[in-house]
Amino acid sequence: MAAEQSTGRSNRLRKRTQAPRRLDQQPSYPNIFCEECGLGDCENEMLLCDKCDRGYHMYCLRPIVARVPAGRWFCPNCKADPIKEFPLVQTKIIDFFRIQRSSQAAHTSLLESRKRRKRSTSLVVSKKKRRLLPFTPCRDQARRLQQMGSLATALTTSGVEFSDKLTYMPGMAPRSANRPALEKGGMQIMSREDKASLELCQAMCKEGEWPPLLVVFDSCEGFTVEADGCIKDLTIITEYVGDVDYLKNREKDEGDSMMTLLSTGNPSTTLVVCPDKRSNIARFINGINNHTPEGRKKQNLKCVRYDVDGQARVLLVAIRDIAKGERLYYDYNGYEQEYPTHHFV
Ligand SMILES: [Zn+2]
Ligand SMILES: [Zn+2]
Repeated sequence: MAAEQSTGRSNRLRKRTQAPRRLDQQPSYPNIFCEECGLGDCENEMLLCDKCDRGYHMYCLRPIVARVPAGRWFCPNCKADPIKEFPLVQTKIIDFFRIQRSSQAAHTSLLESRKRRKRSTSLVVSKKKRRLLPFTPCRDQARRLQQMGSLATALTTSGVEFSDKLTYMPGMAPRSANRPALEKGGMQIMSREDKASLELCQAMCKEGEWPPLLVVFDSCEGFTVEADGCIKDLTIITEYVGDVDYLKNREKDEGDSMMTLLSTGNPSTTLVVCPDKRSNIARFINGINNHTPEGRKKQNLKCVRYDVDGQARVLLVAIRDIAKGERLYYDYNGYEQEYPTHHFV
C-alpha cells in the first residue's frame, strides 16, 4: 500500500470578529470564570454562551470543543439536545436505512456466497499485494438490529439523514467537479479486486448485513464508534460520505467533520465531503489526539482516498486487527495538519 494517500479533515481554526465571543476579545468582561473548573485563566480558550453569558473553557466542555464554533454558541445548560433513542423495532429500522432484502440473501449472506464462488474459480492467490477486505457482518440478526439502531439514534439526535454514498446537491459542487485527475500529485486508482470488495460492502449494507460497529455515547467524546466484533487488518470499515462541495464554499463553515475528497491546491476546485445533512457511521468515528504518543497508539484506522471509476472516494480502513469493544480512531490530520486535536482525550 505504498502509494496510498492519507487524507484529513480540512478545517481551519478561523479568527472571528463576531459571536461566539471569546473572553480575550471582550475586555469589558473582567470577572468571567469557567462554569466547569471555576478558573478564569486561559481566556483565549473560553467560550461565552450566547444565551446566559456564562463562560466555559473549550477543553472543560464535554464533549470537548476542539475549535471556536462558527455562529452562535450555547452552553450545555442552554442547549437542550437530549439523545433521541431510536425504537429498536425491525420494521422501523429497515425503513430508516431503506434496507432491501433480496430473495437470495434471505438465507445465505452475500459474503458467504461470494467466498464460495471465489474458492471454486480462483486458485491463483497473489501474496504480493495486500488487498482490502470486506467487513464481516455479525451473524446474530438481533445484534445487527442493535448496531443499526445505535446508528439510527446517533443520526436522529444529530439531525442527519442516512446516506451511504457521496451526494451532489444543487448549488454545491456538481458530480463533474469530482475529477481525480485534478489531484495534486495524482490519486491512486482502486484495483479491480478492491473495487469488488467495496461494492460487496455496499451491497451488504443495502441488505441489512451490517458492519460489526456500535455507536455509543461517551460523555467526553460525544457519539463515538466501537467494534462490536473482531475486525481484521485492512478491512473496509466504511466510506466517508455526505454532500460534496467546493472548499471555497465551506471556508466559513463550522463543519467540524468536513473531509478532504479532492485536493487540487486551489480552494475553488478542491472538494470536501460535508456530512452535516446526509451521512453514515463515518461521521461518528473519532479522531486521535496526535500530539501525544497515547493518542497515536489508539489509532486503528486510516483514511485512504482512491480514484474509483473516475470518481474520488474516501474510505476508512483498518490498519491493524481490532478487538471487539475497541473504539475506532483515525488521524484527522493524516494529510493536512489543520485540525486542532490537542484537547482530544
Ligand atoms: Zn475550565
Ligand atoms: Zn448558557
